Amino acid sequence: MRQLTYDGVPIPGLNDLVRTAIRLHPAQGDPRPDESHLGGPLLWPSDEPWPECPVTWPPDPDASDDAWAGGHPLDEPVPAMVGAAQFFRGDFPELPFPEGTDVLQILFCPMEHNSPHHQGPALRLVWRDSGEVEDISDPPPVPEDADAALLPVPCVFEPCSIDELPRLCDFPPETRAALGIPEGAQDDPEGWPELDQYSKIGGWTAWHATARHELGCRECGAELRQTIALATEEHEVGCGCEVAEAEPAGWSFTRKGVLNVFTCPADVAHPFKVRID
Ligand SMILES: [Zn+2]
Ligand SMILES: [Zn+2]
Ligand SMILES: [Zn+2]
Repeated sequence: MRQLTYDGVPIPGLNDLVRTAIRLHPAQGDPRPDESHLGGPLLWPSDEPWPECPVTWPPDPDASDDAWAGGHPLDEPVPAMVGAAQFFRGDFPELPFPEGTDVLQILFCPMEHNSPHHQGPALRLVWRDSGEVEDISDPPPVPEDADAALLPVPCVFEPCSIDELPRLCDFPPETRAALGIPEGAQDDPEGWPELDQYSKIGGWTAWHATARHELGCRECGAELRQTIALATEEHEVGCGCEVAEAEPAGWSFTRKGVLNVFTCPADVAHPFKVRID
């Protein structure tokens, strides 16, 4: 990595700040339930109820920790969720699969929900052992009042890896202290590599439109970690691959943003957070 400095001072531990993200490069396709994908059929067992939106009022304890300002009233039918993404351990061992699980399923409630941090779909993360699934369930119909901009077109992945450096706001406290970075400073060092918009696993948050805010774990206090980014637009930058389709999944998060999922590095079962940036 070329010499990067902060105000002319070499950045201590620069190499330790690098995270290798797996860029997903979604491309429209026809995935099966036993494949990794966006928006395709989930490997969901027929003997397990199809999930409903967790952002009810009061919220389900499994809802993401996003200070929801409201939710679906419990005295009315709660919307069924739609399959948004599925990642198998065999394809993406970089994901923090809990022991005994080998597939992560992400479901959306495809309508706008309001938190102080963002407006967008509500999520569930399901970490599952695919070996326990026998008969596969058909999903229920998409809710009538679903927002079409939150329903993905099925995509498969053509992943590559890309090294990323954090934005200044994500520098660890010890690095900030060593460099004497003032409280509240936001501007990246000069010549800092840009973090652009693309779907990925791991890596750092682009913080393109919003600011980093309240990412501590509600359960244990650890700083949550950028785990999955689902982008509206796949920008052709950084990794050198060609991007055939700029918006392959056809979904659009607030202001064409990126939906970022943050999980706890101590225990992925702790409440996760979502930030649309
Ligand atoms: Zn909902
Ligand atoms: Zn935690
Ligand atoms: Zn690439």
